[in-house]
Amino acid sequence: MADKRDYYEVLGVSRSATDEELKKAYRQLARKFHPDLHPDDPTCEEKFKEITEAYEVLSNQEKRQMYDQYGHSAFENGGGPTPGGFSDVSEILESLFGGMGGMFGGGTRMNNPNAPRQGRDLQTSVTIDFMDACNGKSQKVDIQRMETCPDCHGSGSAGDSGSEVCPDCQGRGSVKSMQRTPFGMISSTKPCPHCGGKGKIIKSPCQKCRGAGRVRVTKSINVDIPAGIDDGTAMRVTGMGDAGVNGGPAGNLIVGINVKPHPIFQREGYDIHCDIPITYAQAVLGDEIVVPTIDGNVKYRIGEGTQTGTVFRLKGKGVKKLQRSDRGDQYVKVFVEVPKGLNKKQKELLQQLEASLESKNYAKRDNFFKKLKDFIGGKQ
Ligand SMILES: [Zn+2]
Ligand SMILES: [Zn+2]
Repeated sequence: MADKRDYYEVLGVSRSATDEELKKAYRQLARKFHPDLHPDDPTCEEKFKEITEAYEVLSNQEKRQMYDQYGHSAFENGGGPTPGGFSDVSEILESLFGGMGGMFGGGTRMNNPNAPRQGRDLQTSVTIDFMDACNGKSQKVDIQRMETCPDCHGSGSAGDSGSEVCPDCQGRGSVKSMQRTPFGMISSTKPCPHCGGKGKIIKSPCQKCRGAGRVRVTKSINVDIPAGIDDGTAMRVTGMGDAGVNGGPAGNLIVGINVKPHPIFQREGYDIHCDIPITYAQAVLGDEIVVPTIDGNVKYRIGEGTQTGTVFRLKGKGVKKLQRSDRGDQYVKVFVEVPKGLNKKQKELLQQLEASLESKNYAKRDNFFKKLKDFIGGKQ
């Protein structure tokens, strides 16, 4: 307890922070460190516990007052700051993220453990080929999710043994507890620990799910990746997340899409860019060149005297747009590859050619030197 960090410091807020500011700080940190988002990083779980504990105390007026006055020692005799407020971490998340479209699954508050609750959203990612992203693909994805137990159909009871009223809370689901604090005894209501707040107890738990009503299964599902999807997109597959609880709807599966780069095509939105090297003679004389597209090769005639860096557009040869029928374009940039390693004979031929050319064959060069001459002439 002695090494505990200051709760305000943990949440990164001032001592005069309002409830709104506390909530905002906690929400941001919880999102950042939620263990479900970092299953491989145990430090996140620690961090998450720390911020949750700080929030539990500071978001409760009584506890905050006590903390401000006595620091961490205010809770040393009370069995930690957890009693009272929230029964567990997920409840806080539910109440905080409740209206947010279910970032952590479900929009239903957990106040009543018997209320229908949406299953959690699951996340996964797949890496697909460039061409599959252009054409769409049915992709197999392996996920682990909670499904309704096939043995008890979600009831949690073995056979038809059913459940009985919890003797500790007489079916109310909550119990009152008295807590000794520096201000005297404080009474608070908390979910009944015996029945978990449900008010009833399963007589003979189902063997397969141990009474939970859901079991974790590994499943292969097919995800239809639509034509036109781009790298870094996330898809929501409705109802493929964890099964709901108490008859609530299933969560969703969020699939992050990574697209492998293509050796010759670069994608920009729905347009495709591609650079094609041509020879000096092709540039000078013009030629019919072969241009690869995502539909296969097409022929394209480049004109006589095509300059290096010229870009031409193949309309409608880009990627199909998502949820539309039209497509982007393909932009092809040609550049002249200057030949290297010529032999003596070839060099002589080129020199002969060069000697035969006149300034009118080099309009740009001619123009450049004219300007240069004017520039130097103007200076002197
Ligand atoms: Zn079961
Ligand atoms: Zn109970």
